[in-house]
Amino acid sequence: MKLFRILNCFFVIALFNAGASALALGPARSLTAVAEKGPENQPTMKTKKKIGLAIHGGAGTIERSKMTPEKEREYRAGLERALTAGYEILKRGGSSLDATEVAVRALEDDPHFNAGRGSVFTSAGTNEMDASIMDGKTLKAGAVASLKHVKNPIGLARLVMEKSPHVMLDCAGAEAFAKENGIELVDEKYFFTQERWDALQKIKEAEKHGGVGGKNFFISEDDLHGTVGAVALDKDGNLATATSTGGMANKLPGRIGDTPVIGAGTYANNQTCAVSCTGDGEYFIRAGAAHEVSALMQYRGMKLQEAAQMALDAVKKLGGSGGLIAIDKNGEVALPFNTNGMYRGYVDPNGKFVVEIYR
Ligand code: ASP
Repeated sequence: MKLFRILNCFFVIALFNAGASALALGPARSLTAVAEKGPENQPTMKTKKKIGLAIHGGAGTIERSKMTPEKEREYRAGLERALTAGYEILKRGGSSLDATEVAVRALEDDPHFNAGRGSVFTSAGTNEMDASIMDGKTLKAGAVASLKHVKNPIGLARLVMEKSPHVMLDCAGAEAFAKENGIELVDEKYFFTQERWDALQKIKEAEKHGGVGGKNFFISEDDLHGTVGAVALDKDGNLATATSTGGMANKLPGRIGDTPVIGAGTYANNQTCAVSCTGDGEYFIRAGAAHEVSALMQYRGMKLQEAAQMALDAVKKLGGSGGLIAIDKNGEVALPFNTNGMYRGYVDPNGKFVVEIYR
């Protein structure tokens, strides 16, 4: 009986060992087989998925003569910081939504750009910010307008998209929603920058001399408006876009531009492209510019570059100037503008950062 138990036990151990080595050998064998075949012959080996990112910091009359080397370095550094922040996320396998939000946050925190911290002033001497974000996979979108205390408007736009049943919230309602959800609110002083304040005074002075109305006055467009934006493609093939702005300097309180209007300043659709616009908002709204790029690709079969240029030409025909950035599902980017400069950057197919300002 004892002998039987010992034999039985031996039998169980032997069986267990055989099973274990079969398990251990299984994957080892198949790995050898794959290695022998060589990577090029592996039918299941996935090719590296493309990722892509482009950003802008506004388009306008950016004159070389008025730009000091130091100022130019600061603008370039700001754009590079935003590209780095967004691209790190994409490289680590993160989503295009996260990448665009993070890139735009970096630009909102930089006082050189007209969004967040560096927002221009309204005619009443206040700051009113707009932002929006869109997910090309689900076509969900979130937008906020006329914010006065939200440190990073793009974060609130994302929250509207993800935590509310709505697409757009504005003013006090938007800020109450921000507060309820723990979004950082700051004193209005946070948005004060001397340069933007001086620009407002210059505009008001020009107005007194009958210079304002149209563009026949001496204020550079760089002082007047600007926007920041990002478009991205992630490794899962999802496109996203995010746009944020302080709007137009000396705008009437309550004025809302194209930035938070989905289809005008911001649009993303996995079937076509992701777009973020900058320029004379009223014209981009009337042209439905961001959606136009997508529609031209979807219904006219246009390639990204051609569609982006045609949509911008339509804005120009109405009388508007500016630019846009766009990325398609293959990671191609287009950055057309009809002004003499646009703060912009993208990551090329080799992962190299390209930052440009002038034409
Ligand atoms: N599009 C922005 C607005 O109209 C301004 C700009 O991008 O320059 O508010």
